[in-house]
Amino acid sequence: MRKPLIAGNWKLHKTIGEANDLARQLCAKLANVHNTDIVLAPSFTAIAAVVEACKESTIKVGGQNCYPEPQGAFTGEVSAAQLQDAGCEYVILGHSERRQIFNEDDAFINAKMHAVLHAGMYAILCVGETLEQREQGDLFEVLNIQIQRGLKDVSAAQMEHVVIAYEPIWAIGTGKTASSEDAAEVHAYIRGLLQGVYSPAIAQSMRIIYGGSVKPDNISALMAQADIDGALVGGASLNAADFAAIANFPRPLHMADASR
Ligand code: PEP
Repeated sequence: MRKPLIAGNWKLHKTIGEANDLARQLCAKLANVHNTDIVLAPSFTAIAAVVEACKESTIKVGGQNCYPEPQGAFTGEVSAAQLQDAGCEYVILGHSERRQIFNEDDAFINAKMHAVLHAGMYAILCVGETLEQREQGDLFEVLNIQIQRGLKDVSAAQMEHVVIAYEPIWAIGTGKTASSEDAAEVHAYIRGLLQGVYSPAIAQSMRIIYGGSVKPDNISALMAQADIDGALVGGASLNAADFAAIANFPRPLHMADASR
């Protein structure tokens, strides 16, 4: 069974003090949640504070991005190994804001993917379509390209350290969520794609999480879908009560013994 994963992407929010407060509140609120992996992805400046705040808890810390090279003359960039050194275990890659605002393409994201896996960390690969692509009927082709190129030369063994986050761009920060049935259809498509590229066993073991205006009031319906293994949460992860409610979602029957 796949262990659910709920990750909070704090984006460009929170001072070190605010991040520390939020992380400590979450550690207290989520102390009894053991059957879900919980990841917080603060700004680089707050990583050390969040790692310290979470050190007695099961909450993990992630970076929101990294650079593919391990070191060198790359002013302003942070490597996967540096994130790991700071206490991160996860890195979010290919977020639509990185793709759209910073023009990251699939080849660059793939290079980052290899850097993260080489560092022995977990990569959360974000994929998703614009509203225009969806309306033109290009949804599955877009996902196919993003996934195949993002995972280029990633071995079957390395896939244990990869999580796919399906994030329809039109649902991010807009308050619009894909219906749980629509999201489930896309997740099933992604699992089928992974089955074709890798194997049925790998496809079944992979966590595919959903992102896009996830809130306490829609998490249950999303998590009730068999192919939805968790959530990548933006706005609602900035509030302790909301994120705790999401991470503490009522477990559907099909997840009763999830233990990965
Ligand atoms: C995100 O940024 O990954 C995201 C899903 O944001 P929001 O939850 O605010 O839509």
